[in-house]
Amino acid sequence: MHKLRGSINLGYEIMALEFMHKEMLKQLKKLSATNEVTDKYESAWSSATRNTGLPIPCPSCFIQGILSRLSPLKDEGFASSARCVNCKTKYEWQNPDGLS
Ligand SMILES: [Zn+2]
Repeated sequence: MHKLRGSINLGYEIMALEFMHKEMLKQLKKLSATNEVTDKYESAWSSATRNTGLPIPCPSCFIQGILSRLSPLKDEGFASSARCVNCKTKYEWQNPDGLS
């Protein structure tokens, strides 16, 4: 499991990040990302979640070689979402707190 350290300033709930991570990997698969691209995405993800100031990258832009930022949208309780500042793709994933 991906390890999260300390607090991060990405605008996302730390609890929701692992679920977001899974969703982004699902999106990469859907976009037929190669293993190499997926590995690179994983390093970009882990850099971003280590509070390095690097963005959480948009999977759709990432496979095209563009490092774009996913900007968090309003939390809807049962689900969280983010929109890419570059291609405007909206991503949604379940919020674990909303499932109980
Ligand atoms: Zn994008």
